[in-house]
This record gives sequence, structure tokens and C-alpha cells, in this order.
Amino acid sequence: MAVYNLNKTDHKDGTYGLHPQSTSFSEEYAERMCKFYLTDEYVKDAHGNVDTFYRLHSPRTAYDNNQALIYDVHCPKCNALMRQVSTNKDYYTLGYYECKKCNNKGGRR
Ligand SMILES: [Zn+2]
Repeated sequence: MAVYNLNKTDHKDGTYGLHPQSTSFSEEYAERMCKFYLTDEYVKDAHGNVDTFYRLHSPRTAYDNNQALIYDVHCPKCNALMRQVSTNKDYYTLGYYECKKCNNKGGRR
């Protein structure tokens, strides 16, 4: 499992961008050191294609679902804006994200 540190940027409209940076952190270390980090998960579909999903973590600050929505999370591979596919698991384990581009969804490759 890869751990990505997230750098926050402010947008003019009061939302924030989160930009992933590759690390060799263990998740334990990221929990202590990062404000936000992403972990990747691989999910095989019925056709044997492997899709990549990312879980957003906020180990030190609690967020509810509405608060977490102000963050735009970018893809660690292609930097495109990712789509949130599921809501928070708890206040520190936030949304589940997918990059449509990298998972080859939404039309043209
Ligand atoms: Zn991508």
C-alpha cells in the first residue's frame, strides 16, 4: 500500500485543493506526521480489471461529511481531480475517491 502526503492549496471560493506527493511513509508514520494523507486500494471488478481507489485520511482533525466536501483531491498518478465515490467512514477516515481517467471510465482513453 502506498501512502501519499497531501499538500493543501487555497482556492478563491473557500474550497481547498489537496495535491498528493509520493512518500515512503508507513501508515503509522503518516498518522503522526501528516495533516492529510491518501492510501491506495486496488479493487478487481467482475471482468478482472483492477481499479484503483484512494482513501483520504485526516488523522489529527475530525471532519464530518459536509466539511470534507470542501477538499478537492487530485490523482497521485495524473493529477486530475478525483471523484468522491463514497462518504466518510468516520471522522478521521474520510471519503473514498476514484480517478476516472486512470480507471478508464468516462469515455476516451
Ligand atoms: Zn488519474
